[in-house]
Amino acid sequence: HSPVDPLVAPEEQAAEAALRPSRLDEFEGQPRVRDQLSLVLAAARHRDSTPDHVLLSGPPGLGKTTLAMIIAAEVGAPLHITSGPAIQHPGDLAAILSGLVEGEVLFLDEIHRMSRPAEEMLYLAMEDFRVDVIVGKGPGATAIPISIPPFTLVGATTRAGLLPSPLRDRFGFTAQLDFYEVEDLTGIVTRSAAKLDVELDADSARLIASRSRGTPRIANRLLRRVRDYAQVNADGRVDVALAKAALELYEVDELGLDRLDRAVLEAICAKFAGGPVGLSTLAISVGEETETVEEVAEPFLVRQGFLMRTPRGRVATPAAWAHLGLSAPPGAPG
Ligand code: ATP
Repeated sequence: HSPVDPLVAPEEQAAEAALRPSRLDEFEGQPRVRDQLSLVLAAARHRDSTPDHVLLSGPPGLGKTTLAMIIAAEVGAPLHITSGPAIQHPGDLAAILSGLVEGEVLFLDEIHRMSRPAEEMLYLAMEDFRVDVIVGKGPGATAIPISIPPFTLVGATTRAGLLPSPLRDRFGFTAQLDFYEVEDLTGIVTRSAAKLDVELDADSARLIASRSRGTPRIANRLLRRVRDYAQVNADGRVDVALAKAALELYEVDELGLDRLDRAVLEAICAKFAGGPVGLSTLAISVGEETETVEEVAEPFLVRQGFLMRTPRGRVATPAAWAHLGLSAPPGAPG
Protein backbone atom coordinates (compact mmCIF):
# COMPACT_ATOMS: atom_id res chain seq x y z
CA HIS A 1 0.00 0.00 0.00
CA SER A 2 1.61 3.24 -1.10
CA PRO A 3 1.72 6.10 1.42
CA VAL A 4 0.39 8.40 -1.29
CA ASP A 5 -2.58 6.26 -2.37
CA PRO A 6 -5.63 8.55 -2.47
CA LEU A 7 -7.94 5.68 -1.43
CA VAL A 8 -8.51 4.86 2.21
CA ALA A 9 -7.12 1.54 3.50
CA PRO A 10 -9.59 -0.42 5.67
CA GLU A 11 -7.22 -0.38 8.66
CA GLU A 12 -6.86 3.39 8.64
CA GLN A 13 -10.56 4.24 8.71
CA ALA A 14 -10.69 4.77 12.45
CA ALA A 15 -7.56 6.93 12.42
CA GLU A 16 -9.12 8.98 9.65
CA ALA A 17 -12.43 9.40 11.43
CA ALA A 18 -10.59 10.82 14.43
CA LEU A 19 -9.26 13.67 12.28
CA ARG A 20 -12.54 14.66 10.62
CA PRO A 21 -13.63 18.23 11.13
CA SER A 22 -17.19 18.22 12.42
CA ARG A 23 -18.29 21.78 11.56
CA LEU A 24 -18.14 23.80 8.38
CA ASP A 25 -15.87 26.44 9.91
CA GLU A 26 -13.24 23.76 10.67
CA PHE A 27 -13.31 22.55 7.06
CA GLU A 28 -10.15 23.99 5.50
CA GLY A 29 -9.84 25.18 1.92
CA GLN A 30 -12.40 24.97 -0.91
CA PRO A 31 -13.68 28.47 0.03
CA ARG A 32 -16.25 28.64 -2.74
CA VAL A 33 -17.81 25.31 -1.86
CA ARG A 34 -17.83 26.26 1.83
CA ASP A 35 -19.51 29.62 1.20
CA GLN A 36 -22.12 28.19 -1.14
CA LEU A 37 -22.91 25.30 1.15
CA SER A 38 -23.16 27.58 4.11
CA LEU A 39 -25.75 29.61 2.19
CA VAL A 40 -27.75 26.47 1.28
CA LEU A 41 -27.82 25.49 4.96
CA ALA A 42 -28.72 28.99 6.16
CA ALA A 43 -31.57 29.25 3.62
CA ALA A 44 -32.99 25.92 4.79
CA ARG A 45 -32.82 27.08 8.41
CA HIS A 46 -34.55 30.28 7.40
CA ARG A 47 -37.38 28.39 5.72
CA ASP A 48 -37.42 25.82 8.49
CA SER A 49 -37.17 23.04 5.92
CA THR A 50 -34.68 20.35 4.92
CA PRO A 51 -31.77 21.61 2.78
CA ASP A 52 -31.73 20.97 -0.98
CA HIS A 53 -30.15 17.77 -2.21
CA VAL A 54 -26.39 18.18 -2.61
CA LEU A 55 -24.11 16.57 -5.19
CA LEU A 56 -20.41 16.46 -4.38
CA SER A 57 -17.95 15.49 -7.06
CA GLY A 58 -14.20 15.16 -7.05
CA PRO A 59 -11.33 12.71 -6.73
CA PRO A 60 -11.02 10.45 -3.65
CA GLY A 61 -9.78 11.84 -0.35
CA LEU A 62 -10.81 15.48 -0.86
CA GLY A 63 -13.55 15.54 1.78
CA LYS A 64 -16.85 14.34 0.30
CA THR A 65 -17.71 12.07 3.24
CA THR A 66 -16.54 14.78 5.63
CA LEU A 67 -18.88 17.33 4.03
CA ALA A 68 -21.82 14.91 4.24
CA MET A 69 -21.13 14.48 7.95
CA ILE A 70 -20.81 18.23 8.39
CA ILE A 71 -24.15 18.84 6.64
CA ALA A 72 -25.85 16.39 9.02
CA ALA A 73 -24.17 17.99 12.03
CA GLU A 74 -25.08 21.51 10.90
CA VAL A 75 -28.77 20.64 10.49
CA GLY A 76 -28.70 18.56 13.67
CA ALA A 77 -29.99 15.46 11.90
CA PRO A 78 -28.80 11.87 11.85
CA LEU A 79 -26.72 10.65 8.90
CA HIS A 80 -27.33 7.41 7.04
CA ILE A 81 -24.39 6.24 4.93
CA THR A 82 -24.69 3.92 1.96
CA SER A 83 -23.18 3.56 -1.50
CA GLY A 84 -24.16 2.92 -5.11
CA PRO A 85 -22.68 -0.57 -5.32
CA ALA A 86 -24.69 -1.56 -2.21
CA ILE A 87 -27.94 -0.66 -3.98
CA GLN A 88 -28.50 -3.07 -6.83
CA HIS A 89 -32.24 -3.66 -6.53
CA PRO A 90 -34.82 -0.90 -6.21
CA GLY A 91 -36.03 -2.83 -3.14
CA ASP A 92 -32.71 -2.10 -1.41
CA LEU A 93 -33.28 1.60 -1.92
CA ALA A 94 -36.96 1.45 -0.97
CA ALA A 95 -36.00 -0.17 2.33
CA ILE A 96 -33.47 2.54 3.10
CA LEU A 97 -35.76 5.41 2.10
CA SER A 98 -38.77 4.17 3.98
CA GLY A 99 -36.64 3.73 7.10
CA LEU A 100 -35.46 7.34 7.14
CA VAL A 101 -36.64 9.70 9.87
CA GLU A 102 -37.76 13.20 9.01
CA GLY A 103 -34.90 15.55 8.13
CA GLU A 104 -32.33 12.75 7.97
CA VAL A 105 -29.31 13.17 5.69
CA LEU A 106 -28.72 10.24 3.35
CA PHE A 107 -25.16 9.99 2.07
CA LEU A 108 -24.97 7.97 -1.14
CA ASP A 109 -21.33 7.47 -2.05
CA GLU A 110 -20.36 6.36 -5.59
CA ILE A 111 -23.86 7.30 -6.69
CA HIS A 112 -22.89 6.69 -10.34
CA ARG A 113 -22.61 2.97 -9.59
CA MET A 114 -26.26 2.48 -8.65
CA SER A 115 -28.36 0.22 -10.87
CA ARG A 116 -30.64 1.86 -13.42
CA PRO A 117 -33.98 0.81 -11.86
CA ALA A 118 -32.82 2.01 -8.44
CA GLU A 119 -31.82 5.29 -10.02
CA GLU A 120 -35.32 5.78 -11.39
CA MET A 121 -36.80 5.15 -7.99
CA LEU A 122 -34.44 7.75 -6.58
CA TYR A 123 -35.72 10.44 -9.00
CA LEU A 124 -39.20 10.19 -7.56
CA ALA A 125 -37.94 10.07 -3.98
CA MET A 126 -35.84 13.21 -4.49
CA GLU A 127 -38.62 15.12 -6.15
CA ASP A 128 -41.83 14.02 -4.46
CA PHE A 129 -40.59 12.22 -1.34
CA ARG A 130 -42.38 9.14 -2.54
CA VAL A 131 -41.42 5.71 -3.84
CA ASP A 132 -43.51 3.35 -5.92
CA VAL A 133 -43.12 -0.20 -4.77
CA ILE A 134 -44.07 -2.70 -7.46
CA VAL A 135 -46.06 -5.62 -6.19
CA GLY A 136 -46.63 -8.69 -8.34
CA LYS A 137 -45.25 -9.53 -11.77
CA GLY A 138 -46.27 -9.16 -15.39
CA PRO A 139 -49.58 -7.57 -16.42
CA GLY A 140 -50.98 -7.94 -12.89
CA ALA A 141 -48.20 -5.89 -11.28
CA THR A 142 -49.30 -2.77 -9.44
CA ALA A 143 -47.35 0.18 -8.11
CA ILE A 144 -48.07 1.01 -4.51
CA PRO A 145 -47.01 4.55 -3.63
CA ILE A 146 -45.32 4.92 -0.26
CA SER A 147 -44.59 8.37 1.03
CA ILE A 148 -41.26 8.94 2.72
CA PRO A 149 -40.32 11.70 5.14
CA PRO A 150 -38.52 14.75 3.73
CA PHE A 151 -34.80 14.10 3.71
CA THR A 152 -31.63 15.56 2.22
CA LEU A 153 -29.70 13.43 -0.23
CA VAL A 154 -25.96 14.01 -0.39
CA GLY A 155 -24.63 12.18 -3.42
CA ALA A 156 -20.92 11.72 -4.07
CA THR A 157 -19.19 10.79 -7.28
CA THR A 158 -15.67 10.96 -8.63
CA ARG A 159 -16.97 12.61 -11.78
CA ALA A 160 -20.28 14.43 -12.12
CA GLY A 161 -20.11 13.74 -15.86
CA LEU A 162 -20.72 10.06 -15.14
CA LEU A 163 -24.25 10.81 -13.92
CA PRO A 164 -27.22 10.83 -16.27
CA SER A 165 -28.54 14.36 -16.51
CA PRO A 166 -32.03 13.60 -15.10
CA LEU A 167 -30.29 12.58 -11.88
CA ARG A 168 -27.85 15.49 -11.91
CA ASP A 169 -30.69 17.95 -12.48
CA ARG A 170 -32.51 16.85 -9.36
CA PHE A 171 -29.78 18.16 -7.09
CA GLY A 172 -30.40 21.70 -5.88
CA PHE A 173 -26.73 22.26 -5.28
CA THR A 174 -23.67 20.79 -6.97
CA ALA A 175 -20.14 21.25 -5.69
CA GLN A 176 -16.98 20.29 -7.47
CA LEU A 177 -14.09 19.67 -5.08
CA ASP A 178 -10.65 20.49 -6.42
CA PHE A 179 -7.19 19.46 -5.29
CA TYR A 180 -6.08 21.61 -2.34
CA GLU A 181 -3.49 24.37 -2.25
CA VAL A 182 -0.39 23.76 -0.12
CA GLU A 183 -1.49 26.56 2.27
CA ASP A 184 -4.80 24.81 2.97
CA LEU A 185 -3.10 21.44 3.43
CA THR A 186 -0.64 23.09 5.82
CA GLY A 187 -3.63 24.22 7.86
CA ILE A 188 -5.08 20.70 7.83
CA VAL A 189 -1.77 19.16 8.93
CA THR A 190 -1.41 21.73 11.71
CA ARG A 191 -4.93 21.10 12.99
CA SER A 192 -4.51 17.32 12.78
CA ALA A 193 -1.18 17.50 14.63
CA ALA A 194 -2.90 19.32 17.49
CA LYS A 195 -5.61 16.65 17.60
CA LEU A 196 -2.94 13.92 17.66
CA ASP A 197 -0.93 15.77 20.31
CA VAL A 198 2.10 15.94 18.05
CA GLU A 199 4.50 18.85 18.45
CA LEU A 200 5.27 19.96 14.93
CA ASP A 201 6.73 23.27 13.73
CA ALA A 202 5.28 25.35 10.90
CA ASP A 203 7.99 24.38 8.39
CA SER A 204 7.39 20.67 8.94
CA ALA A 205 3.65 21.14 8.47
CA ARG A 206 4.36 22.84 5.17
CA LEU A 207 6.83 20.16 4.13
CA ILE A 208 4.29 17.39 4.73
CA ALA A 209 1.59 19.43 2.95
CA SER A 210 3.76 19.98 -0.11
CA ARG A 211 4.24 16.22 -0.55
CA SER A 212 0.57 15.35 -0.18
CA ARG A 213 -0.54 15.60 -3.81
CA GLY A 214 -3.23 18.16 -3.07
CA THR A 215 -5.15 15.60 -1.02
CA PRO A 216 -6.13 15.94 2.67
CA ARG A 217 -6.33 12.16 3.14
CA ILE A 218 -2.69 11.83 2.06
CA ALA A 219 -1.64 14.81 4.20
CA ASN A 220 -3.15 13.20 7.30
CA ARG A 221 -1.60 9.84 6.46
CA LEU A 222 1.88 11.27 5.95
CA LEU A 223 1.50 13.15 9.24
CA ARG A 224 0.68 9.92 11.07
CA ARG A 225 3.73 8.19 9.56
CA VAL A 226 5.98 11.11 10.48
CA ARG A 227 4.57 10.99 14.00
CA ASP A 228 5.36 7.25 14.26
CA TYR A 229 8.89 7.93 13.10
CA ALA A 230 9.30 10.75 15.60
CA GLN A 231 8.06 8.63 18.48
CA VAL A 232 10.47 5.80 17.67
CA ASN A 233 13.52 7.78 16.59
CA ALA A 234 13.26 10.97 18.61
CA ASP A 235 11.34 12.39 21.53
CA GLY A 236 8.18 12.75 19.47
CA ARG A 237 8.83 16.34 18.44
CA VAL A 238 8.87 16.96 14.70
CA ASP A 239 11.20 19.37 12.92
CA VAL A 240 12.00 19.64 9.23
CA ALA A 241 15.04 17.36 9.35
CA LEU A 242 13.03 14.67 11.04
CA ALA A 243 10.04 15.03 8.71
CA LYS A 244 12.39 14.77 5.71
CA ALA A 245 14.09 11.67 7.10
CA ALA A 246 10.73 10.02 7.80
CA LEU A 247 9.35 10.72 4.33
CA GLU A 248 12.56 9.50 2.77
CA LEU A 249 12.10 6.23 4.62
CA TYR A 250 8.61 5.93 3.16
CA GLU A 251 10.01 6.86 -0.29
CA VAL A 252 7.86 9.94 -0.77
CA ASP A 253 9.90 12.61 -2.53
CA GLU A 254 9.71 16.45 -2.49
CA LEU A 255 6.83 16.55 -4.93
CA GLY A 256 4.93 13.63 -3.47
CA LEU A 257 6.06 11.01 -5.98
CA ASP A 258 6.47 7.51 -4.59
CA ARG A 259 8.67 4.61 -5.61
CA LEU A 260 6.41 3.49 -8.47
CA ASP A 261 5.97 7.01 -9.88
CA ARG A 262 9.72 7.46 -10.04
CA ALA A 263 10.28 3.97 -11.44
CA VAL A 264 7.87 4.76 -14.28
CA LEU A 265 9.60 8.03 -15.13
CA GLU A 266 13.06 6.48 -14.82
CA ALA A 267 12.09 3.66 -17.14
CA ILE A 268 10.78 6.02 -19.80
CA CYS A 269 13.84 8.26 -19.60
CA ALA A 270 16.65 5.79 -19.01
CA LYS A 271 15.43 2.71 -20.90
CA PHE A 272 13.35 4.23 -23.69
CA ALA A 273 15.15 7.52 -24.34
CA GLY A 274 12.14 9.52 -23.16
CA GLY A 275 9.56 7.55 -25.13
CA PRO A 276 7.17 7.11 -26.72
CA VAL A 277 6.82 3.69 -25.13
CA GLY A 278 3.70 1.52 -25.05
CA LEU A 279 1.89 1.04 -21.75
CA SER A 280 2.38 -2.73 -21.58
CA THR A 281 6.10 -2.49 -22.32
CA LEU A 282 6.40 0.19 -19.68
CA ALA A 283 4.51 -1.91 -17.13
CA ILE A 284 6.72 -4.94 -17.75
CA SER A 285 9.85 -2.86 -17.38
CA VAL A 286 8.79 -1.65 -13.92
CA GLY A 287 7.46 -5.09 -12.92
CA GLU A 288 3.84 -3.98 -12.45
CA GLU A 289 0.44 -4.75 -13.90
CA THR A 290 -0.64 -2.41 -16.70
CA GLU A 291 -3.71 -1.38 -14.64
CA THR A 292 -1.51 -0.34 -11.72
CA VAL A 293 0.67 1.82 -13.94
CA GLU A 294 -2.32 3.28 -15.75
CA GLU A 295 -4.64 3.88 -12.80
CA VAL A 296 -2.32 4.39 -9.84
CA ALA A 297 0.83 6.06 -11.16
CA GLU A 298 -0.14 7.85 -14.35
CA PRO A 299 -2.98 10.19 -13.30
CA PHE A 300 -0.74 12.09 -10.88
CA LEU A 301 2.24 12.11 -13.27
CA VAL A 302 0.03 13.50 -16.03
CA ARG A 303 -1.51 16.07 -13.69
CA GLN A 304 1.97 17.18 -12.59
CA GLY A 305 3.11 17.52 -16.21
CA PHE A 306 5.72 14.75 -16.00
CA LEU A 307 4.17 12.38 -18.46
CA MET A 308 2.13 12.61 -21.62
CA ARG A 309 -0.14 9.94 -23.03
CA THR A 310 0.15 10.09 -26.81
CA PRO A 311 -1.29 7.81 -29.49
CA ARG A 312 2.19 6.33 -29.95
CA GLY A 313 2.81 5.72 -26.28
CA ARG A 314 3.98 7.34 -23.06
CA VAL A 315 6.40 10.26 -23.26
CA ALA A 316 8.45 11.89 -20.49
CA THR A 317 8.32 15.69 -20.42
CA PRO A 318 11.32 17.97 -19.79
CA ALA A 319 10.00 18.40 -16.23
CA ALA A 320 10.37 14.64 -15.70
CA TRP A 321 14.01 14.67 -16.83
CA ALA A 322 14.67 17.64 -14.56
CA HIS A 323 12.95 16.05 -11.57
CA LEU A 324 15.06 12.91 -11.93
CA GLY A 325 18.19 15.06 -12.20
CA LEU A 326 18.89 13.77 -15.71
CA SER A 327 19.58 15.75 -18.82
CA ALA A 328 17.44 14.94 -21.79
CA PRO A 329 19.44 13.82 -24.82
CA PRO A 330 19.16 16.09 -27.86
CA GLY A 331 16.06 15.21 -29.83
CA ALA A 332 14.26 13.65 -26.81
CA PRO A 333 10.51 13.95 -27.19
CA GLY A 334 8.35 16.09 -24.97
P1 ATP B 1 -13.58 8.96 -0.65
O1 ATP B 1 -14.24 9.41 -1.89
O2 ATP B 1 -12.36 8.10 -0.90
O3 ATP B 1 -14.49 8.39 0.38
P2 ATP B 1 -13.69 11.56 0.52
O4 ATP B 1 -13.66 12.60 -0.53
O5 ATP B 1 -15.02 11.17 1.06
O6 ATP B 1 -12.94 10.29 -0.01
P3 ATP B 1 -12.99 12.11 3.24
O7 ATP B 1 -13.12 10.71 3.78
O8 ATP B 1 -14.08 13.05 3.54
O9 ATP B 1 -12.73 12.05 1.69
O10 ATP B 1 -11.65 12.79 3.74
C1 ATP B 1 -10.44 12.06 3.94
C2 ATP B 1 -9.71 12.58 5.15
O11 ATP B 1 -9.26 13.91 4.91
C3 ATP B 1 -10.54 12.66 6.43
O12 ATP B 1 -9.75 12.26 7.54
C4 ATP B 1 -10.90 14.11 6.55
O13 ATP B 1 -10.99 14.49 7.88
C5 ATP B 1 -9.76 14.82 5.87
N1 ATP B 1 -10.25 16.02 5.21
C6 ATP B 1 -10.79 16.08 3.98
N2 ATP B 1 -11.10 17.33 3.64
C7 ATP B 1 -10.74 18.11 4.67
C8 ATP B 1 -10.80 19.52 4.90
N3 ATP B 1 -11.27 20.37 3.97
N4 ATP B 1 -10.36 20.00 6.08
C9 ATP B 1 -9.88 19.13 6.98
N5 ATP B 1 -9.79 17.80 6.84
C10 ATP B 1 -10.20 17.29 5.68
